[in-house]
Amino acid sequence: MTKSPTMDDAPYLSGLNPAQREAVETINDPVLVLAGAGTGKTRVLTTRLAHILQTGHAFPGEILAVTFTNKAAQEMKERVSHLMGGAPVEGWWLGTFHALATRMLRRHAELVGLGSNFTIIDPDDQARLLKQLMESAGIDHKKWAPRAMAAMIDRFKDRGRRPTDLSADEGGEAAGGKLVALYAQYQSRLKTLNACDFGDLLLHMITILRDPQNADLLAEYRRRFRYILVDEYQDTNVAQYMWLRLLAQGNGRNGENNICCVGDDDQSIYGWRGAEVGNILKFETDFPGAKIIRLEENYRSTAHILSAANGVIGHNADRLGKNLFTDGDQGEKLIVRGLWDGEAEARWIGEEIEQLQHRGWSLDRIAVLVRAGFQTREFEERFIQLGLAYKVIGGPRFYERMEIRDALAYLRVTAQPVDDLALERIINLPRRGIGDATVQTLYAYARNKGISLHSAIHELCETDEMRPKVRETLLRLAGDFARWRSLIPTMKHTELASMILDESGYSAMWQASKDADAPGRLENLKELVAAMDEFESLPAFLEHIALVMESRDDQYQASISIMTLHGAKGLEFDAVFLPGWEEGLFPSQRSMDENGLRGLEEERRLAYVGITRARQRAFISFAANRRMYGNWINAVPSRFVDELPKDHIETQSDSGLYGAGRSAHWDSSGVQAAQRRADNHDRRTINAHGETLSRGDRVNHDKFGDGTIIHIDSHKLDIAFDRGGKKRVMDSFVSKID
Ligand code: ATP
Ligand code: MG
Repeated sequence: MTKSPTMDDAPYLSGLNPAQREAVETINDPVLVLAGAGTGKTRVLTTRLAHILQTGHAFPGEILAVTFTNKAAQEMKERVSHLMGGAPVEGWWLGTFHALATRMLRRHAELVGLGSNFTIIDPDDQARLLKQLMESAGIDHKKWAPRAMAAMIDRFKDRGRRPTDLSADEGGEAAGGKLVALYAQYQSRLKTLNACDFGDLLLHMITILRDPQNADLLAEYRRRFRYILVDEYQDTNVAQYMWLRLLAQGNGRNGENNICCVGDDDQSIYGWRGAEVGNILKFETDFPGAKIIRLEENYRSTAHILSAANGVIGHNADRLGKNLFTDGDQGEKLIVRGLWDGEAEARWIGEEIEQLQHRGWSLDRIAVLVRAGFQTREFEERFIQLGLAYKVIGGPRFYERMEIRDALAYLRVTAQPVDDLALERIINLPRRGIGDATVQTLYAYARNKGISLHSAIHELCETDEMRPKVRETLLRLAGDFARWRSLIPTMKHTELASMILDESGYSAMWQASKDADAPGRLENLKELVAAMDEFESLPAFLEHIALVMESRDDQYQASISIMTLHGAKGLEFDAVFLPGWEEGLFPSQRSMDENGLRGLEEERRLAYVGITRARQRAFISFAANRRMYGNWINAVPSRFVDELPKDHIETQSDSGLYGAGRSAHWDSSGVQAAQRRADNHDRRTINAHGETLSRGDRVNHDKFGDGTIIHIDSHKLDIAFDRGGKKRVMDSFVSKID
């Protein structure tokens, strides 16, 4: 152990427990800190960095530190500088794998046949390029979507495999059995274009460092990076691992492997992106003499929160297993609450936050962590209504998302043909062959005559200014808008909106897309239509949007953080709200369909990540009815709700209807709210007994017993029965319960 006697009492060391201290002070051997959430892994890494610098073991430029996000890199920079008395630390290599690999590759690009000014292409370009190559190779790109091919190539790259490392049949059926050949062509085309994709950044560096001809270079890097530190190690993929291993072999002053990784197998949540939790298990083999340090004391959460998290993750079979304890307070039990629907859930969370605020809590201490991006919308609206400042972390606010802005542009032009800005946004979206030049011509003409773009289209299309094909397209689009507009008075606005998104080809564009975020965008579009249901008409909705868009956030103001569970890794908050714990939403159906038990266990790790973000309070909620993908779904509470150990939770319900776990009911305030809403929408039916039935009403059915109306479709009712779930029945067979 390298220990400087003068450092024994260094203030940054005195706050550590013995195991943490050992991890910080064992600086000349491989160290793996394998420990649960909140045990101080990141703190160890940060302190270790400060310690190495402070004791003069290395200069900043001799340290390579990898974090999972840019934000975490920034935080680490600040924390280290704080530990070292405030002096800014410059010149070190601290960042994400991508950022570090880019920086390195710029220096040596010529070794893989690239110029140092190579461009990094995005997934769009990637797909375009593949499509061209497929066309010239005679591969059917309707059958084999270029984006899907790109994704498969990305997975090869995640595993560190170049075309030459693959045998011809490893692509299976894909691209008509020619995937590996396509991959090879794609790589050579990228080279010609002096470009690389994200996966190449690391892959090229691995190629360079593994080439015996570049042995000197590798040796130089090993000499340079005396100390390598890696956070969130459980989520590294094979390529990242290979790169680390190359750099860390014998990089220490005396030829030892100086690498320190910290991670938690229970928090591995990026398997879908190629992360290999097995990298943790291989650590000891790859770095002989490695010291494995386990931290067991959790410093973040109260005992109730920690026990609840341990209870849930205990249901995973595939884990290393560890004991976690806290010396801290019991704290308050987790609140678990079933509500009528998503709106009631947002209302309840808003109320709880206001109560915390009244008790003097700053909004900065509070987070809402969702499973899927579309969930943020209901919270955003509620918080705006209540005047609670919030920020959406890791992504734009709901109404600022690209697909939402596009869809709104369609709706705006429908409602208001002279909305030029909106029209310009979608005139060629999806692509219909209307280029910039056409838009310029239209604009110039409109400006000259002082008319709108819309009128310019009509006038110019009567001339020969534009090619016949363009004219035809423009007139068809204008005709579509006119038709949609004519439907405003008679058609229900939500149905009209769905129709516009379908007929314009906008939804189809995302359906055809193999982008990783395309499914999320489609969910957001459905959520947008669902949101409209709360307003009487299209204009009323658009007016609401204008107001919502106006409320800008002030970055200096304390605000609630809203983000996905994935984005919350590594962070902590005093109070955490975990909404939407329903089967299908969380655990996500898609993840279970695609990966079976593995997918389910990854979802459970996400639940563990979520709960363990909380220091003092955690609130878990689920709704009985969720409007998901545009339809009302009779939701079943998540299995994770059942897995919460009973001693550590308090289940809440106004009417005492909440049962244990999956047989849960919902509380009466939610029912009343739903009823109010149903009334607003005039969705009623009168049954054979002359009773008026509305959504949210409690009714009795001869055969199925008591239940609540969740949907009315003329004389057909969807009812959530207290026993036996959702059924569709005729209204004449039910009677109202008073
Ligand atoms: P995660 O797995 O969520 O990334 P982690 O293991 O990285 O968690 P940290 O974020 O480093 O944990 O630490 C959790 C909290 O506990 C932080 O607020 C940290 O300051 C505090 N903490 C860590 N070690 C100690 C200690 N020895 N004494 C007091 N507080 C500590
Ligand atoms: Mg951490």
